[in-house]
Amino acid sequence: MSKQHDRSVLVQVKDLKKYFPITRGVFRRHVGDVKAVDGVSFDIYQGETLGLVGESGCGKSTTGRTILQVYPPTAGEVMLEGKNLATLRGEEMRQIRRRMQLIFQDPYASLNPRMTVGSIVGEALDIFGLARGAERRDRVEELLYLVGLNPHFISRYPHEFSGGQRQRVGIARALAINPDFIVCDEPIAALDVSIQAQVVNLLEELQERLGLTYLFIAHDLSMVRHISDRIAVMYLGKIVELTDRRNLYYNPLHPYTKALLSAVPVPDPLFEARRERIVLQGDVPSPANPPQGCNFNTRCPVAEPVCYEVEPAFTEVSAGHWVACHLVKTTG
Ligand code: SF4
Repeated sequence: MSKQHDRSVLVQVKDLKKYFPITRGVFRRHVGDVKAVDGVSFDIYQGETLGLVGESGCGKSTTGRTILQVYPPTAGEVMLEGKNLATLRGEEMRQIRRRMQLIFQDPYASLNPRMTVGSIVGEALDIFGLARGAERRDRVEELLYLVGLNPHFISRYPHEFSGGQRQRVGIARALAINPDFIVCDEPIAALDVSIQAQVVNLLEELQERLGLTYLFIAHDLSMVRHISDRIAVMYLGKIVELTDRRNLYYNPLHPYTKALLSAVPVPDPLFEARRERIVLQGDVPSPANPPQGCNFNTRCPVAEPVCYEVEPAFTEVSAGHWVACHLVKTTG
């Protein structure tokens, strides 16, 4: 169900790029770049969940981490409530970092096996000097309770928990310092299907209760279907389509989105019967050597000569519906 959110923008991403240099030889000569994120722009509204979807290697995780400044951007801007993060230093940057957190994909790898749950969840409280002694313990127990774990588990170690419980620990850790914005980087991809819905439900409850804003990253459209208000589809370092969830599922316009959706079952027999199945040929090109023109032209079933020459602009073709494709016309 789509959540109501007011329309004030919390996070603005403008023409963001993240290139990783390719070097060669003992002198590490710069011979090229892996263009992991190649000019993406979007807004994330206060209290909403923006889904970011694409095949593995398309740059979606790098986008999330570059927004959080885990990776310094190569170019472009990230603004939180209008503050350009690139211009912040020292204490101001520290306070902004506190407001933006990351939930990792792999709850097995992201928790230090030698630390107790109390130390893992309370670590950020220590770093920011927010609570000590009994107050710290109370806060950690409160966080464990908030994510549906027994507060008495505070002295246990990660290996004593199931995958779903570990992801709850990861969520408690992210919530410890009261963030506003959380990048959820494929938080359910490593979990059993039976546990995935529980974690999605927990994230939705926490959003409602704490007024959180999410960027929810996933590699397939079925995973973001229930949690997202709007969805951005990414291909080879660029956003190719962005619109609200219902519009994306019922009126996809970009050929890549149509292909992705043709693999997702729809619980509507009439719609299911008349939609086309699209199987993409070939592999995703290397982000170190993207094609000229539209970066989808090597796999697009409807490419025209212009697609090999000119890169399509990311255009608002109708209210709130953005597409990068020469064949999609603006409808006003
Ligand atoms: Fe396909 Fe051309 Fe549209 Fe790219 S611009 S998605 S190649 S039709």
